[in-house]
Amino acid sequence: MTSSYDPTRDVPRPARWEVLYRSSGPFWDGVASGKLLLQRCASCARWLTPPRPMCPGCQSREHEWVQSTGRGTVHSFATYRHAPHPAFPAPHSVVLVELEEGPRLVSSLVGIAPENIAVGQAVEVVFTHAADDFTLFQFKPAA
Ligand SMILES: [Zn+2]
Repeated sequence: MTSSYDPTRDVPRPARWEVLYRSSGPFWDGVASGKLLLQRCASCARWLTPPRPMCPGCQSREHEWVQSTGRGTVHSFATYRHAPHPAFPAPHSVVLVELEEGPRLVSSLVGIAPENIAVGQAVEVVFTHAADDFTLFQFKPAA
């Protein structure tokens, strides 16, 4: 985090530095290098989203990180008509994307007018450098 970071103006940072969310560190490291990584239980192959230290299915603490294709479909969405934060001017569309691998991720959808967004629409991940030390994952309509 740079000293010029202003949480009232700049894109909010993920909670990776908080103890409760430390399991998501590799996810955000992947995003920083242009990869969408998903955590999967090494014992029963259940997807662990959001990342967590223990599988809720088999209680295994062994997991692996698998690179997603970054492709999926819009499962649900909502559009803010008033800016939810100064870094996200309105209209700002938040989507729940179902990835090809199965897990669903919440993010924002860029490159499309809100009135053209549809459930089931094909989307793909795009990485946006929000600051020198911070990258966001977002989705855009699939090419
Ligand atoms: Zn498991």
